[in-house]
Parts: sequence; structure tokens; C-alpha cells
Amino acid sequence: MTVKLYETDPYLREFTATVTKAEGDWVVLDRTAFYPGGGGQERDRGTLNGREVTAVKGKDEMSHQVPGHGLTVGSQVKGVLDWENRYGLMKAHTGEHLLFSSLSRRTDMELVKISLSKEKKVLIVKGHLDWDMVRDAVHEVNDIIAAGAEVTCQHVDRENMVEGGPRVKLDRIADRMVRVVSIGDHDSAACAGVHLRDAKEIGMLLVSKFTSAKPAGDWEIEFLVGPEAVSAAVDHSVRSLILAERLGSLPQDSLTAFDNRDRELVRAREALKAYGRLALSSLRPEQLNDKKFFSGSFAGLDRKMVMEKASELVAGGGSVAALVCQDDKTFLVLACSTDVKLDCVSLLNSVLSQHGGRGGGKPNFASGGATGLLDPSVLLDEIIRLLKMS
Ligand SMILES: [Zn+2]
Repeated sequence: MTVKLYETDPYLREFTATVTKAEGDWVVLDRTAFYPGGGGQERDRGTLNGREVTAVKGKDEMSHQVPGHGLTVGSQVKGVLDWENRYGLMKAHTGEHLLFSSLSRRTDMELVKISLSKEKKVLIVKGHLDWDMVRDAVHEVNDIIAAGAEVTCQHVDRENMVEGGPRVKLDRIADRMVRVVSIGDHDSAACAGVHLRDAKEIGMLLVSKFTSAKPAGDWEIEFLVGPEAVSAAVDHSVRSLILAERLGSLPQDSLTAFDNRDRELVRAREALKAYGRLALSSLRPEQLNDKKFFSGSFAGLDRKMVMEKASELVAGGGSVAALVCQDDKTFLVLACSTDVKLDCVSLLNSVLSQHGGRGGGKPNFASGGATGLLDPSVLLDEIIRLLKMS
């Protein structure tokens, strides 16, 4: 049996212990401060006698993977935790308890998964949630952090766990005695992890992402704690102020201003489509040798719309269509009726290649582009010249 020092003193950064078993890369110690991970929290990092601990596992006997350790039964070791990592995870874990309980007070919610590591702190939950609830919960959590709340642990007989008591999933706990972690009178939950002494030490908690997590759950909530939360809050705030300035609105009105801008954009796109359809329908052919030749140039039109029109124009037989469409690039479509003997791919490439562009397709339908804005009349004149020669 290994004594789990982290259970009684989660602030222990260094410890000495005796090796009770040594097999390959693994050593079992009589006592340890290395948390093996659990409850969604990643295992501790650190060293034993200066060598990196690459894994920790076990329940009663705690094994530490230390490649190249050279230890034998009875060896004395000094363990040193990567304290910055551990302390960050203690903040995250305590913060996660507060965040989940605060959200739960606003809606019926079920926890699907917790994942707490140095790089990412995530909750996946099921239930109805929205941005207003997230904002209110984050305010509440930060009020609790600012006021401070003592974190305490006690062991409770599972028979005494009652409805409305601590949050617990008894089907996931084998032991009779359940470790219950309480944060002031704000939260009480069964948990075997490592926590702070006081919620005040979290400093700050910030939700940094709130997105759909289907199919695993309904929502994924990513959060930051401590100095990372402060730094991200400042960055988000400045970006939000810049955005409001660009939208020409007050910061508190920026969402409405954005929605208005969005509706304007939809209307403008619809209008452009309508004008585009009108412009495309006005195309009339000119006679070129024995073929009807349709040509035109259109700025800002949807490429798919232009391609569909090219196909439609040559559907009647005996026709060739060359349409140019420009946004920040130049796009050329060349199509011919099936009864016209023409290799559209090779003709299109011989024109575009003169301007550093290229395209592909089938013998009777090709499309391609060139970077930048080329003069459409130069492209169309070249096509006409080549068609006259064919
Ligand atoms: Zn916990």
C-alpha cells in the first residue's frame, strides 16, 4: 500500500520515499505525492532522483515509470513535482467544480466528460445552455473566487449519500467511503482529485470557448484559470472594442450592429444574384465562322452561376460560350456544344497560360483562372482569334 501524500497535503512539492518494488522501468514507492490522474485531471509531472517520471498508475500500490532509474527495493528516492503544472491543474480542478455547479443552478445539466491538462481545460455537458447562462455563471464563479471560499474534504458512507446532497455518480465509485469535496457552501461533489485550499487562489476563471459538442454531448465548454484567464480576458476585450469600432457601434451594441451588417450582406448578395441573372440573360451571340459565339465579362458574380449559364448557352447546338468572371482573381469558362469540334481545355489553357494561369475540365467544358485582375477583353479577343483559326 502506498501512502498518497497528495490526499492529505496537495501542496507538497517534494518528498522522500523508499522503493518497495522495482520492475523494468517501473518503481513502486511506500509513499508518493504524484497524483496518478483521474476525474478528468491529467497525472502529475516531475522527477524521481532527477529522472523524469513518464507515467504514474495504480490504486493501492502506486507505480512510477522512470526510464533508466537504476533503483532497487530499499532505495531512497527524492520526488519533485512539476509544481507550476500541478498548481495550475489544482486551480483548474477547483474552478471546474465551481463552474459546473454554477451552470447546474441555471439549467438541468449532465456531465459527460471532464478533461483538465496544462494545454486544455474542457467540460462536455448535456442540457439546455446558452450564452446568457454561461456569462451569468462566469460572473458568479468570479464573485466566489473574489470573496474566497474554503475547500474541505470529508469521507462519507455511501449509504448516507442522499438526493439533493453532494454531486456523485455512485455507479462509478467502488469504495464504501466516498470522498466529498466542498467549496464553502457553493458546491459539494464526490471527487478523488487534488484541489486548492481556498477558491481565492484560482485568481480568475474565464470561459474561452462554448460550442456544440454533438454527438458526444450538447456543449463543449473550454475555460482558463489564473494569469492565463486574465491575459485572455484582456485580449478578448480589446478585440471586441476594435470590432465595435469597425462596426461603428458602441461596444455594448456591437452584436446588434453585426446582425444588421449581416442582414445587409445577405440583401446585397441577393441583389447581386438578381442583377447577375439579368446580365447573363441578356447575352446575345455573334456569328463566328459557322458557330454562334456568346461572350461576356462579369464582376463579382458567383462562379457556379456563370458556369451553369455557359452550359445552358451551348445546350442548343452549334455554339461556343466564353465567360469571364472576376473577384480578386480572374476566372474563365469556355464551353461548346457537343456537335462543335473543339478542345475547350487546350484552348482555355493556351489563353490562360500567357497570363500565368491554367485550368481543366472536359473537351466541351473547361474552366480555370489566373491570379489578379486581367483585362477580360484581352482574354476574349485571344479566344476569338484562336476560334477563327480553328
Ligand atoms: Zn475535484
